[in-house]
Amino acid sequence: MGTASNVSKRKRPRRSRPIVSVLRVGHRAGRDPRLTTHLALAARALGADRMYLEPPDPELSARVASVVRGWGGDFEVVGVDDWKKVVRTTDALVAHLTMYGLPLERVLPRLRRAPKVLLVVGGAKVPPDLYRAADVNVGVGHQPHSEVAAVAVVLDRLLGDPPTGRWPRAARSVVPRARGKKLVEHRGKR
Ligand code: SAM
Repeated sequence: MGTASNVSKRKRPRRSRPIVSVLRVGHRAGRDPRLTTHLALAARALGADRMYLEPPDPELSARVASVVRGWGGDFEVVGVDDWKKVVRTTDALVAHLTMYGLPLERVLPRLRRAPKVLLVVGGAKVPPDLYRAADVNVGVGHQPHSEVAAVAVVLDRLLGDPPTGRWPRAARSVVPRARGKKLVEHRGKR
C-alpha cells in the first residue's frame, strides 16, 4: 500500500493525447490556395496527423508534401471528393468548428477523452448537413473569425505545446535564438 510520501513520488500517468486529423470542406482551388495552405501548415505544426481536403487540390498537397520533406514528420494532405463519406466512415469523434457551436471550454473534456478526433472546418459557405453530421459543433468564441485560427486554438488546447527541436526525418531544423536566424541542415543524417 502506498504511504503519503511514496504515493507523492509516483509518476502520474501521462495524459494520453488524441490522434487529431482535420477535414477542410469547400476549398476553392485557385481562389484560396494560400489560406488552405496556411490551414494545413498550422495543423501540421500544432500536432495534427493529416488533413483531408474537399475537393482535392493536388498542387496544394504537393506543396505541403515538400514542406514535410524539408521539415520532417508524417503529415499529409489527402484529397477527398466526398466530405460526407469521410465523416460517415471515420472512427474519430467528429467535431465541427463553428461560431454557432457549444463553447470549446465545455466540449474540451469530451475531445480529450476521445482516442481520435476529426476537426472539421468550412470555407466561405458551410453545407447545412455538416451541422447534423458532426458528433459535436464547437465554437471557439462565438464571433466570426477563421478556420486557421479555430483549428490552431483547438489543437493548442487539446495537444499543448508543439515539440521543439528536429522533427523525425527532417532535412533542417531551427536553432531557437533571441535574435537572428539559425538553421541546421541534416543532410545525410536522416
Ligand atoms: N459563413 C460561414 C458560416 O456559415 O459559418 C463562416 C465561414 S468562416 C470564414 C470559415 C470557417 O472558420 C468556418 O466554417 C468555421 O469552421 C471556422 N470558424 C470561424 N469562426 C469560428 C468560430 N468562432 N468558432 C469556430 N470555428 C470558426
